[in-house]
Amino acid sequence: MKRVKNYINGEWVDSETKEYGEVWCPATGEKIGEAPFSTANDVDRAARAAKEAYWEWRCTPPLTRARYFFKLKNLFEESFEDIARILVTEEGKTLDESRGEVRRMIENVEHATGVTTLMTGYNLEDIAHGIDCTAEPQPIGVFGVIAPFNFPAMVPWWFLPYAVVSGNTYIVKPSEQVPMTQTRIFEAIDACGFPEGVINMVHGARDAVNGMLYHPDIKGISFVGQSSTARYVYKACGETGKRVQSLGGAKNFVLVMPDAELDKSMPSLITSFYGCAGERCLSGSVLVAVGDVYKELKEKFVAAAKSLKVGNGLQEGIQMGPVVSKKHKEKVLGYIEKGIQEGAKLILDGRNIKIEGYPNGFFIGPTIFDEVHPEMTIAREEIFGPVVSLIHVKNLDEGLKLIENSEYGNAACLYTTSGKTAREFKYRAVASMMGINLGVAAPMSFFPFGGAKGSFFGDIKGHGREVFQFFTDTKVVIQRWT
Ligand code: NAD
Repeated sequence: MKRVKNYINGEWVDSETKEYGEVWCPATGEKIGEAPFSTANDVDRAARAAKEAYWEWRCTPPLTRARYFFKLKNLFEESFEDIARILVTEEGKTLDESRGEVRRMIENVEHATGVTTLMTGYNLEDIAHGIDCTAEPQPIGVFGVIAPFNFPAMVPWWFLPYAVVSGNTYIVKPSEQVPMTQTRIFEAIDACGFPEGVINMVHGARDAVNGMLYHPDIKGISFVGQSSTARYVYKACGETGKRVQSLGGAKNFVLVMPDAELDKSMPSLITSFYGCAGERCLSGSVLVAVGDVYKELKEKFVAAAKSLKVGNGLQEGIQMGPVVSKKHKEKVLGYIEKGIQEGAKLILDGRNIKIEGYPNGFFIGPTIFDEVHPEMTIAREEIFGPVVSLIHVKNLDEGLKLIENSEYGNAACLYTTSGKTAREFKYRAVASMMGINLGVAAPMSFFPFGGAKGSFFGDIKGHGREVFQFFTDTKVVIQRWT
């Protein structure tokens, strides 16, 4: 059993705490590790190291900074399979899903190495007679990320490479549920030879988070997690005057039009709802059958869901793994119970699934509710598990209304063969990441990642080009030389 350490100032160090959280393998139901519930003092130690490292790092030429990330990319490629397997073991997704996640993590490193063209300012001469003006993006200081459990490798890397390559120093706080993956990633960081204090990691939960939110030397926070926590983080950063980008939860609607090519669409529909066991902020959650596609869609979707191979994600051929923890399984089962109580019709019940060889795993089979009404809890709240709510509407307008009325606005998808309908959907659906004839609208590293309404608090989203603005202050210099 592994007990992970913090990584501060280029060294693996113990937290001052005596309290440790347990790490579980969701497939076997066994305890596999422990991570410290680090304290505000531990965070302070990391923040001081990062502050100390800042000045020299910000004065290091951008291309030299980028070269560390070129080297790091190669180290990640060498440890690719190892990282992917650790991720499956503690989070539960399938090996292919995990490999996809690690690939997306590396793509962010690749994108960030373009710092010399991405972090550029602008200038204008003679804004008045003999006076020149430049707008120069400059790094700010120490930044940090607070990460969720569901993408243990990738999420911190939506932010870290951009922050650090642009001259800031950094602290990562992984989810206490899945601390091993980022620990393995930090072994590569350690091998890469970054100057001490440039990149640090502090494990933990609430105390570590509050330590970051209220630390005077931490200038900005990137957060990803549930909306309730995202709101809390956003508010605290408002109080303490920090920059903040706070990505929250989701309830994604997937509309299928009568003219959709159902057979062709079925694999991506199934991936949308059941990929990563539904524990993805871009997962489909409400399947909206528009008009007379309802009956055929229901039959085909139920048949495809039934045929999914559920099991330990480390085994070849497995299409859906367990959910992350016993506690989360209970939460999802609670939503299924609620759906039944509120009168939805359970047409595929995954509650009692048995996986041979894994009697203690946190498995839930594909589950589908029919006859769901928009006001039911299962149609409104984020379930974050393999549970689908099927709603039948008359037309596109009614489908769009469902999206508009949702408190969330992360992603929305549409299946159609009509360009006109797709265009209308794109304009009117109130969500920020949109899929047309695909069910997981995941922006790659060179496009921004983040939602609308209750799914996002802040202005500048994750990665893309804009994220450089989050990590820099544009200084305007107006000069006259006589
Ligand atoms: P969470 O909010 O429970 O935890 C996220 C982080 O916040 C963790 O590091 C945790 O230690 C910390 N935290 C939790 N409760 C806290 C509290 N009361 N005070 C201070 N810190 C606290 O989220 P999770 O369950 O780990 O992750 C799943 C959620 O993340 C889902 O809602 C999912 O939709 C969301 N998510 C969103 C995106 C996105 O891009 N919008 C991406 C991935 C996940």
